[in-house]
Amino acid sequence: MQKYLVVTGGTKGIGRAIIGRFAAEGFHIITCSRNQQDLEKLKLEIEELYTFSKVFYLATDVSQEGEIRRFLDYIQSLNVKVDVLVNNAGFFIPGTIHNENENVLREMINTNLYSAYDLTKGLVGDMIKRRDGHIFTICSTASITAYTNGGSYCIAKHALYGMTRVLREELKDHNIRVTAVLPGATYTASWEGVDLPKDRFMKPEDVANAIWNAHSISKQTVIEELLLRPQLGDIPG
Ligand code: NAP
Repeated sequence: MQKYLVVTGGTKGIGRAIIGRFAAEGFHIITCSRNQQDLEKLKLEIEELYTFSKVFYLATDVSQEGEIRRFLDYIQSLNVKVDVLVNNAGFFIPGTIHNENENVLREMINTNLYSAYDLTKGLVGDMIKRRDGHIFTICSTASITAYTNGGSYCIAKHALYGMTRVLREELKDHNIRVTAVLPGATYTASWEGVDLPKDRFMKPEDVANAIWNAHSISKQTVIEELLLRPQLGDIPG
């Protein structure tokens, strides 16, 4: 039976690596990001590399409630069952709560939290009916650490982690696995230009492999949390 992965923010970084890993395992992919050209390029690359895997996409800004609704309608129009959902899209602005712009928290919550909340609510009903599914949320070490330069990002990621823990409790009796992923500094577009060697960071592929491993074990077991850090620990902010 063909398997389907939904992942938000699939064109770059951790999302892109997750798509590569699941496509290599034979999954079809449903994804979104804001840039149409990047999505077209992603589809071409993945379908050429993994000829058995199809990529479906819709240009979407997940920070907008209406756009998440449109993405959900698009997924529904494909008439498939979603086996794995990865709430990945998110962004980071360094800052401190006491002097960051007052809109920063709103933007952070919209992109990093409401997107995951709305998408999960839209897809989980069918998983509950089928008693099958696995939901991952890409949280952060900022979900459990109060970084001095983390500002509203830390607030949003703490909240996302809280949502994931609640979902885990709600969904255990429905046979749906829920996993919080808490990566430390991972070398992606977000870190480009930083004056540090690339090997000081984790590779997005390592995060993707950890997620695949957590998914591929028997359904009798759920890995509730994946906490990953660079070998040398956090990068000081
Ligand atoms: P990235 O390389 O910047 O990629 C982000 C992806 O999400 C891109 O495909 C981007 O495409 C998409 N995206 C961003 N904002 C979006 C929006 N409003 N609507 C739809 N798509 C959007 O980021 P990353 O570093 O891989 O981060 C992925 C996740 O991991 C985030 O939740 C981040 O907080 C988390 N994380 C990252 C690190 C790290 O060190 N990299 C550490 C811990 C947690 P478009 O720009 O075209 O929309």
